Amino acid sequence: MATITLPPGARTRTQEQRGGEGIFCVECARSGRNKCSECGTTIANRVLRLGVGYQHGEQVPSYRWQHWTCVKDRTISQIGSPEKLRGLAALEKKDQDAVRQRFAGVGKAPRKKVHTLRDCS
Ligand SMILES: [Zn+2]
Repeated sequence: MATITLPPGARTRTQEQRGGEGIFCVECARSGRNKCSECGTTIANRVLRLGVGYQHGEQVPSYRWQHWTCVKDRTISQIGSPEKLRGLAALEKKDQDAVRQRFAGVGKAPRKKVHTLRDCS
């Protein structure tokens, strides 16, 4: 067999990949133009949303957005803690609370299928 198989972890790790995962941020949408990467519908202006960002080298990170209400538990677990979220401190107190509650709720009671979009006034 002449197949070359790279052993796991053979990928070169560069400094900016420290931690190995994306960058996460929360904010109130500043425009109504982005689509949610989970449900595919447009994220309306001023709706709370999560950005999953990837940084390539020295470039400015680019984000894929999703409604905060569309964020999966898996993603929440991946983020780990609300402190990892950029922009959290800039949110209204009630929105910060909603975000923190979401982290506190992962792994507990099954989440209700709520699809109400909250305004972040
Ligand atoms: Zn969505």
